[in-house]
Amino acid sequence: MTTVAIIGDGPGGLSAALFLAKNGNEAVVYGQDKTAMHAAQVHNYLGIDDISGTDFQAAARAQVTGFGVKLRDEKVETISQQDGRFTVRTEAGVSDADYLVLAGGKATRRLAEELGVELTDAGARVDTENRTNVDRVYAVGRLARANRSQAIISAGAGAVAALDILSREAGKDVHDWDTPPKDDG
Ligand SMILES: Cc1cc2nc3c(=O)[nH]c(=O)nc-3n(C[C@H](O)[C@H](O)[C@H](O)COP(=O)(O)OP(=O)(O)OC[C@H]3O[C@@H](n4cnc5c(N)ncnc54)[C@H](O)[C@@H]3O)c2cc1C
Repeated sequence: MTTVAIIGDGPGGLSAALFLAKNGNEAVVYGQDKTAMHAAQVHNYLGIDDISGTDFQAAARAQVTGFGVKLRDEKVETISQQDGRFTVRTEAGVSDADYLVLAGGKATRRLAEELGVELTDAGARVDTENRTNVDRVYAVGRLARANRSQAIISAGAGAVAALDILSREAGKDVHDWDTPPKDDG
C-alpha cells in the first residue's frame, strides 16, 4: 500500500487525503486544526451558499475520516529523505511515507526548504500537477500560493496532487468518478 504523509489539515491537505484514501492508499494528515478557515465565513465555495469556516472544517474532517484518512493531531518538526522514503518526525515519534504533500501554508516553508524545494516570495514553485522540483514531494494551497489564497483553490490543488500520485502509482492517467445508483424501479 502506498503511504502519503500530508502536512497540513486545511482544505488543501484534507482534499488530497480524501482522494488518496478513497482510492485505497494510506493517507496520514498531520495538523492541529489551527487552519485560517476558523476565521472565515465562506460564501464563495461553489455549491455552498454560506458556511462558517469552522463548520466547513468539521464536515471535511468527518468526511475524510469516513474514507479512512488518519488525522494525527501533531505538529511535524522535521522531514528527512533516505533511500526513496520520507521520514516524518513529530513530538510523538516518527513515521515513513512514499510521498509527501506539503499543505501547511507559510508555516511549512522551512520544511520545504530543508527538503530542497524551490521557494519564491509567492510560495513553493510547482508545476500543473502541483509537483515540486523534489521527486514525490507536492506543495498545495497557501504554501504554493501565499498571496492568492482561497479555500476552493486549496481543495482543488490537493485533488490535483492526489490524482497525480494515483496516476503515477497506476502507471496511467486516472479519474476518480462515481455515478448514481441505478434505479431498479
Ligand atoms: C479572516 C480570513 C477570512 C477568510 N475568508 C475566506 C473566505 O471567505 N473564502 C475563502 O475561500 N477563503 C477565505 N480565507 C482563506 C482560507 O482560510 C484559506 O484559503 C485556506 O484556509 C487555505 O487552505 P490551505 O489548506 O491551503 O491552508 P490552511 O488552511 O492554512 O491549513 C494549513 C494547516 O496546516 C497546519 N500546519 C502548518 N504547519 C504544520 C506542521 N509543521 N505540522 C502540522 N500541521 C501544520 C496549520 O496549522 C493549518 O491547520 C480567509 C482567511 C482569513 C484569514
